[in-house]
Amino acid sequence: MERHSIVVVGGGGVGKSAITVRFVLNRFVTDYDPTIQDSYEKEIVLDQNKCLLDILDTAGCEEFYYLQGITYRTGDGFLIVYSITDRSSFDLVTHFLHEICQIKDLKEEEVPMIIVGNKCDLEVEREVSYQEGQDLARLKHCKFIETSARTNQNLEEVFYAIARETKQIKCYCEE
Ligand code: GDP
Ligand code: MG
Repeated sequence: MERHSIVVVGGGGVGKSAITVRFVLNRFVTDYDPTIQDSYEKEIVLDQNKCLLDILDTAGCEEFYYLQGITYRTGDGFLIVYSITDRSSFDLVTHFLHEICQIKDLKEEEVPMIIVGNKCDLEVEREVSYQEGQDLARLKHCKFIETSARTNQNLEEVFYAIARETKQIKCYCEE
């Protein structure tokens, strides 16, 4: 079976664990240890073919910095997550994007990445507009999706989209 390694990155508290756990276990977590870097497996059917996603929920704190190089190098596809209720997490997106490309020594358009604006159920607390997310994604040559781990909005879409992109790039590289 094909395997794709998906890495979930982003600032603290944006919902990386919530998104991952929601997609893999279909549960919404309200408290998850921020220092745990955890990996999950989920089998999905992509265009009639079964494939296995190895999903790595990163912790992103300083003690894990040394892990970052290894994680980015082994990752095939990346979800770069921010919270629509936290402007500073949006500002970090570019930073993560650059780190990933630098470590992999690839251009932005060569790495399967999706920018994910999470917590879209919290419309009243919104600090980053949909348009801003979309504009950044266009600039960085990647897809953009807003999600909610709480309401389960667009989570299947996000993971299937990154799996599909990853698969496409791999096929292209093997030609
Ligand atoms: P991480 O540090 O990026 O892994 O963030 P967590 O997944 O631990 O989430 C941080 C907090 O935000 C937790 O209290 C979650 O319950 C909450 N949270 C995560 N995603 C959502 C969401 O889509 N909507 C709402 N309302 N809260 C969320
Ligand atoms: Mg977490």
